[in-house]
Amino acid sequence: MPFQFDNSYARLPGEFYSLVAPTPVAQPSMIRVNRGLAELLGADAEVLQSPAGLSVLAGNEICIGSVPLAMGYAGHQFGGFSPQLGDGRAVQLGEVIGTDGVRYDIQLKGSGPTRFSRRGDGRSALGPVLREYLVSEAMAVLDVPTTRALAAVSTGESVMRDGMIAGGILTRVAQSFVRVGTFQWLAARGDVENLKVLADYVIDRHYPEAKESETPYRALLDIVIERQAALVAQWMQLGFIHGVMNTDNTAVSGETIDYGPCAFMDTYESNKTFSSIDHQGRYGFGNQGPMAHWNLSRFAETLVPLLASDSDQGVAIAEEALDRFVEIYERELQQRFKAKIGLGVDADDLANADDVDWKLVRELLTLMEDGKADFTLVFRQLSLVLESNRDDKVLALFDCTKGIAAWLKVWRARVAEVDGGAAVALMHRSNPIFIPRNHRIEEVIEAGYSGDFELFHRLLDVLQHPFDEQPKNAVYEDAPTDDEIVPATFCGT
Ligand code: AMP
Ligand code: MG
Repeated sequence: MPFQFDNSYARLPGEFYSLVAPTPVAQPSMIRVNRGLAELLGADAEVLQSPAGLSVLAGNEICIGSVPLAMGYAGHQFGGFSPQLGDGRAVQLGEVIGTDGVRYDIQLKGSGPTRFSRRGDGRSALGPVLREYLVSEAMAVLDVPTTRALAAVSTGESVMRDGMIAGGILTRVAQSFVRVGTFQWLAARGDVENLKVLADYVIDRHYPEAKESETPYRALLDIVIERQAALVAQWMQLGFIHGVMNTDNTAVSGETIDYGPCAFMDTYESNKTFSSIDHQGRYGFGNQGPMAHWNLSRFAETLVPLLASDSDQGVAIAEEALDRFVEIYERELQQRFKAKIGLGVDADDLANADDVDWKLVRELLTLMEDGKADFTLVFRQLSLVLESNRDDKVLALFDCTKGIAAWLKVWRARVAEVDGGAAVALMHRSNPIFIPRNHRIEEVIEAGYSGDFELFHRLLDVLQHPFDEQPKNAVYEDAPTDDEIVPATFCGT
């Protein structure tokens, strides 16, 4: 029995989910078990890796204590509302309390159809499983709140996508998979009673401090707004583009969830969009803050009946809470980007009335966009300018060097004014050397489809130490060459 389940969600009213077991697969084999995460979950990694563990992680066997279910949720997808989405290709096995005292949901993604599958097969191709494993674990090490990957399994079956391709199942773990869309699911039916049950559940589970407040639902809204603002600012700091920021893909826990056509950008573009289905750039890089605000507005709408007995008053309270988003997001964003150029919080106090530091950041980003410079490399190599006067390394990243040469001069002077010594350490902490670049992920996926997981394991290992120099793995630092560039990413089905 690999997990000690205690399933609080299954004790909620039946409207919240549909009980459904995973559908067994023909010939599963284990690709990887995440030993560190297994330990956190109080699960024995040896057991998970054994044939008995594989049976559970492939959905072929239900272990004792598991009450498998698919969660119901609605959602705005690219702005349009669908009242009925739900877990169409994921099944929750149950919840465990980790060794850190936190309650975690454990789900299989790609484990077969549920009541919510509509026309889908409930399955996942192997590629998206490998992608989500790599990216979510990279995010976790980078300290970004995120769902985690506990295991990847190859099903031994094929799925029909653009032709037949190998199938996979990801075991993913979250502090909870409750989404903005879960609230919308109940709100859309006018089910205020269950909405309150859900809000109380989320408060108990994630934000018990809200209970201390005289207005607990307002406190809940405030905290969720803060967490989303902080989360998206962290994505921005890393050049991460989620790709499908629909309300059903927005977790109220503040974790990054539902990795689909996500990507870390190489060349900087202010509204870089990778997803092949995002034609208007709705979820492009620079739109992520505004889109999080939009999603939170949908969340706030669901809470209106709980915020006040009078609906006008409820709306006013919701609007007041939402008005704080921009301020929190801008503060987080500016702090994080200033840190990337070595200017810490202390610098704010030093002769910075017109915010010269934020102006420096914006100028740099404009130069990067004009000069088609690589996002990760520029910030990484800026610290070399301070450490060893390697201005040439930075200049080499820009198509046109005139502007950046002048910028470096001004920036250097500003850093010296503030405190050059602390700047380097701050930059090292704020600018990863290794991120899961698209062309590396594609390479892993291609090998994976031929049954070779060497590159998957190797990339995963590199990403475990994103801030450390790894001379043997230096090629993983590099931007893609022209023929390695991945122009678009596809939805994670
Ligand atoms: P997502 O791509 O995660 O935003 O998914 C949107 C909705 O489509 C969710 O309700 C998913 O459960 C559902 N879905 C996506 N792919 C499949 C699939 N292969 N089979 C069944 N449902 C799916
Ligand atoms: Mg989703």
